[in-house]
Amino acid sequence: MVECAIALGSNQGDSFDILSKSLTALNKIPGIVLKATSSWYITKPVGTLEPQADYINGCALLSADQTPEELLNILQTTEIQFGRANKGTLQPRTLDLDLLLYGNLVLNTPSLTIPHPRMTERAFVLVPLAEIASDWIEPTSNAKIAKLLHNVDTSGVKLYTA
Ligand code: ADP
Ligand code: MG
Repeated sequence: MVECAIALGSNQGDSFDILSKSLTALNKIPGIVLKATSSWYITKPVGTLEPQADYINGCALLSADQTPEELLNILQTTEIQFGRANKGTLQPRTLDLDLLLYGNLVLNTPSLTIPHPRMTERAFVLVPLAEIASDWIEPTSNAKIAKLLHNVDTSGVKLYTA
C-alpha cells in the first residue's frame, strides 16, 4: 500500500454533501483505505476568467494498492459519478479530485503529473493538507507541506462550518 494525498473541491450543487459522499465512495473501493480527512474550507476561486461561486475545498490521505494511473482513473470516475460534466480546467464543477502526492514518487506523463504541479502555489490545497500531512516532504521542492504553506497567501481560505 502507498500513502497518497488527494485534494477535493466543489463549487456547484450541494458541495458539502457531494464532497462528503465522494470520500465515503472512495473508501468503499477495494484497495483504498481512507486514513485522514482535513476540515473543509470556503475558498475564493483562483485564476478564473469569469466570476464563479466560492469553492469548498479539503484534502484527504489514502492508502492505496493501485498504481498512480489506476488511482487517477478512479478519481475521474468518481468525479463523473457525482455529476461532473465540465471537463475544462478552471471551470465550475460539482466535484474536482486531484492526486497530489503518491508516496515520494515524481512522475511526468501526458495524463498525469505527480506531485500535482500547482499544489505548491495553491493555498486552498496547502491549508487543508497541512492539517493532515504537515511533515510530508513534497518531492520536487524537497520542502515540508508546513513550509510550503508559509510561502502562500491564505487570505482567501476560510474554515467552513456546516
Ligand atoms: P484542474 O484540476 O487543474 O482544474 P482538471 O480537473 O480538469 O483540471 O484536470 C485536467 C487534467 O489534468 C486531467 O484530465 C488529468 O489527466 C490531468 N492531470 C495531470 N496530473 C494530475 C493529477 N496529479 N491529478 C489530477 N489530474 C491530473
Ligand atoms: Mg482536477
